[in-house]
Amino acid sequence: MLSSISQQLTELKQQGAYRQRRPLSSPQGIEVVIDGKTFLSFCSNDYLGLANDSRVCQAAKEAITNYGVGSGASQLISGYSSLHASLEEQLSEFLGYQRCVLFSSGYLANLGVISAFSSRHGLILEDRLNHASLIDAAKYAGGDLKRYRHRDINHAKDIIYSSQAESRLIVSDGIFSMEGSIAPIEQLYQLKSRKTDKLIIDDAHGIGVLGKHGRGSLEHKNIATSKVDILIGTFGKSFGSSGAFVLGGNDTIDYLIQKARTLIYTTAPPAALAAAAKQSLNIVINEPERRQRLHTNIQYFRKALSETKLELLDSITAIQTIIIGENKQTLQLSKQLEKRGLLVLAIRPPTVPKNTARLRITLSSEHSQQQIDQLVYALLELENSTTSPS
Ligand SMILES: *Cc1c(COP(=O)(O)O)cnc(C)c1O
Repeated sequence: MLSSISQQLTELKQQGAYRQRRPLSSPQGIEVVIDGKTFLSFCSNDYLGLANDSRVCQAAKEAITNYGVGSGASQLISGYSSLHASLEEQLSEFLGYQRCVLFSSGYLANLGVISAFSSRHGLILEDRLNHASLIDAAKYAGGDLKRYRHRDINHAKDIIYSSQAESRLIVSDGIFSMEGSIAPIEQLYQLKSRKTDKLIIDDAHGIGVLGKHGRGSLEHKNIATSKVDILIGTFGKSFGSSGAFVLGGNDTIDYLIQKARTLIYTTAPPAALAAAAKQSLNIVINEPERRQRLHTNIQYFRKALSETKLELLDSITAIQTIIIGENKQTLQLSKQLEKRGLLVLAIRPPTVPKNTARLRITLSSEHSQQQIDQLVYALLELENSTTSPS
């Protein structure tokens, strides 16, 4: 029997699974202010420090002067501006696709894409650790969702080869958001055996971060864009703002504009956000030193932790995850870090599988090595104080 809402809330608290939002009173950045206290943040996805970049902010301000704040309507009515159009063109060119369409968020993009291209009983094959929005998208689409073990191509093969479904979508995160691991994109491409099979990659955490030019997981792995039918990215991560984009061939994108309900029935993102994203794209392209600093920081952090017993997952990305296991212990660690002025969030089920609660540390190009040292020392101290002598 379903217990009452208040009972359920009590249970969540007892299980260490209760969640709370905490209002920041500062811009997003390496240092953030909560309740009047300044923290060193290791939990935002603002990997290149663009969320409060003065040029990105200025671009948004100018667009507000010229286009106002509200977009006024959905893209198909009158909410689509020349700034949106020009951003789409620049993204297509940068990432090597024929065409691009913007969405208000990555969550909405994923719902729109999967539901547009799946049929009611079509197979939607997904990595078990795909982002929640991709899982929800399959449910919303009404397709036959099948999940393979994380990056396990043989398992994926078994499922797709035994499927009689007419439409088959292979869907994966490029970089897994809670692990930092990279999808086996080339092998996923090789699973396609019919003309109508589609490979869809959500590279929210790869674009801007990986590859010589910041083109993401495909560039990092040297995979031709022709192998990935649909590539999805967001502005909420390395671009430092908000919104999302979908790339594909002319017909693919044209079809999406006709069919994606999460594009058709929602207000267009404000033109100012398109202006901000255009400026961020400019910086992603023209300031590779940000990416270099980020990767130097990643290596520095991993080396410092390599001599400890902490279970750091394998990752060359900005997402560095330490598996703790139990909810309460993870929360406790997060609180103790907070006491030392460090913001590292405890990620718990249902965001991640049961008994894999974790500290998800995200690094930025803007962290100094001294700031990373601070985190490393705190982690070492906590490790020593929690491992009881045996
Ligand atoms: C963050 C994220 C999303 C959602 O994007 P929003 O723009 O925040 O809605 C989708 N997919 C992945 C892999 C993500 O990490």
